[in-house]
Order: sequence, then C-alpha cells, then structure tokens
Amino acid sequence: SSDDSPPSSSSAGGVENVVIIGSGPAGYTAAIYAARANLKPVVFEGFQVGGVPGGQLMTTTEVENFPGFPDGIAGPDLMDRMKRQAERWGAELHQEDVEFLDVKNIPFTVRSGEREVKCYSLIYATGATAKRLRIPREDEFWSRGISACAICDGASPLFKGQVLAVVGGGDTATEEALYLTKYARHVHLLVRRDHLRASKAMQDRVYNNPNITVHFNTEVADVESNSKGQMSGLLLKRVNTGEESVLEVKGLFYGIGHSPNSQLLEGQVELDHSGYVLVEEGSAKTSVEGVFAAGDVQDHEWRQAVTAAGSGCIAALSVERYLASNN
Ligand code: FAD
Repeated sequence: SSDDSPPSSSSAGGVENVVIIGSGPAGYTAAIYAARANLKPVVFEGFQVGGVPGGQLMTTTEVENFPGFPDGIAGPDLMDRMKRQAERWGAELHQEDVEFLDVKNIPFTVRSGEREVKCYSLIYATGATAKRLRIPREDEFWSRGISACAICDGASPLFKGQVLAVVGGGDTATEEALYLTKYARHVHLLVRRDHLRASKAMQDRVYNNPNITVHFNTEVADVESNSKGQMSGLLLKRVNTGEESVLEVKGLFYGIGHSPNSQLLEGQVELDHSGYVLVEEGSAKTSVEGVFAAGDVQDHEWRQAVTAAGSGCIAALSVERYLASNN
C-alpha cells in the first residue's frame, strides 16, 4: 500500500493507524479494543478534569451502576482498571492535552505541547464539562463554595449541615437538590424560568420535599462574602422586575447542564447546535471519513459510563473495519 492508504495492523511511514483522544470510559474502552486488534493505538489521555487522566469519574466516589461490580467501585479505581487494561494490551498512553487537530488533510495531524502525531484514523472521546454561570466572583469561589457536582462535594465539611442553593430547573438540578437534602439543612432551588423542565416524577419529589424551596423567575447575579472571605450568600435578581435580594447560603451547586468538549473539531466536523459531535445514528461515524466519536462528546442524552464505554467499543471496531477496507 502507498503511504497515504491506511494499513490494517501496524503503523507505517511514521503514520499511526489510530489516535484516540480522551481517557474516560469511552477513550480507554476504544484503546482496549484497538490495542487488542493490534492497531497500536496512540492515546492522548489529557488531564483537563482535575489535572489527572481518567475523565469525569475521577471526580466521584462510588459508582454503583457499572456492570461487574456488585458492591460498587470507587470512580478513580474503575478508571485505573480501564487504564491498566489498555496498557496491558499495548496502547501507547500520553498524559497530554491535544492542542491542535487537522482532520481536513490525510493523514490527520494531532498535536500536543510535547509531540505531533500523524494518523489515518481518529477516535474523539473528549467527554463533556459542566456548564458555568460566569458570574463575577465565580473563579474566586470555585471549589470554595461553588461546585458543579453534588455527588462529589455534597458530603464535604464545607457544605454539611448548611443551607445551600442549586441553580437550574432541569433533571440535573432537581437531582442535585434532592441529593443535597441528605446532608444540607435546607436547599433552595433557583430557577430562571417560571416552571421546572425536569420530568414529572422529579418535580413531584422536589415539591413533596419539605427541605427544598423552589424560587422561580430567579437569577443568580453574584456571590456575597463575609469578613473571612467565605461565601455568606447569593445576590439574586428577579428576572421580570430586576429586583435584587440576598439569600443566605453557604454553598452554590450548578445544575445547568454540560458542554461537550468539541472545540478542536469546530469547523472540521459537523456538530449540533449545542456543540455535540454529530454521528450517524447507531454508529460512531462523524461527517468526516476516518473520524469517529464516542462517549459524552456525542451523547447529550444518556451520559453514563457504560454507554460511553459501549460507544468507545463501537468506535474502535469501526476503525478496524475502516482501515481494513482502505488497505
Ligand atoms: P469523560 O469521562 O468526560 O472523559 C473525557 C476525557 O477526555 C478526559 O480524560 C479529558 O481529560 C479528556 N480530554 C478532553 N479534552 C482533551 C484534549 N484536548 N486532549 C486530550 N484529552 C482531552 N456515570 C455512570 O454511569 N455512573 C455513575 O455513577 C456516574 N457518576 C458520575 C458522577 C459525577 C460527579 C460525574 C461528573 C459524572 C458521573 N457519571 C456517572 C457520568 C460519567 O462519568 C460519564 O458519562 C462518562 O465519564 C463519560 O465518559 P467519556 O469517556 O465520554 O468522557
């Protein structure tokens, strides 16, 4: 085969068969399958989430719904097992963020701060990140009163036994509010619209919980602090009237959705209006031949570890087929 036609097993002419970007359940599963298919995958694990590879589950405690672990497993433990399984089969892992990507020219180019790799196919599995409000003092209070994950932080001493707020009106926000009532003294749910978008079942659970107060038509304008620099409350604004008030809380949880980490593909691969990578239904194929997407970056609906892993498997098997048919 010539230099620009993909070989099916080993890399040739300095061009890799497949590069995988991301080290969540989707990325590692794709790496396990591609490595076992002898494709010698090169994985850019990234470290955007919490400064370590492993993706979103590195930020959680117990995962109770991943099949095969009847007693549950700690998120970081599960990710370490996936990583070791990928390594055992020969995946080449780099703890680096990809900073530049070109999938318009074949072979594709993938570049981190440390290296540039050329490849015939690509699996994009960069996950999603919780959205932020971008209020003025957000950075100052991030992880010091503001959190995007009730499950991760709800039980921490900073929040335990305190009055807390959750912002958002969908399933994520209502779930967070309900979850926080396990630890908090009281939870205020701050909703910008005049209704909840969450499912009827979730709404009922919220309205029937005496420890949750729902505030409609309410926006969070900023954080207020005490003389020690700790969060003492929130500056709220009525959506219709602009009227301002202060709500005394010690913590603010974001439940306003996720953004797919698809920036590197912008202008190169078709994305939907929210930035999720568009794939052919039931497959991992994107609008560019040889580029496949897996996990939360292409899934705004299910967003689970097991579905991410499943789509990583589909992506790797698709790569195998693609390379074989182009050989
Ligand atoms: P992610 O896990 O988001 O991983 C994406 C990876 O891509 C990361 O490693 C990131 O560093 C990397 N990356 C991003 N950009 C780049 C770049 N430019 N270069 C290189 N790498 C990059 N699901 C469950 O099934 N059960 C649970 O109990 C559960 N609990 C959760 C608890 C919390 C707190 C959170 C936040 C999520 C939870 N989820 C749970 C959801 C689950 O974590 C996600 O659905 C899953 O992790 C998605 O996997 P992924 O591989 O698509 O992406």
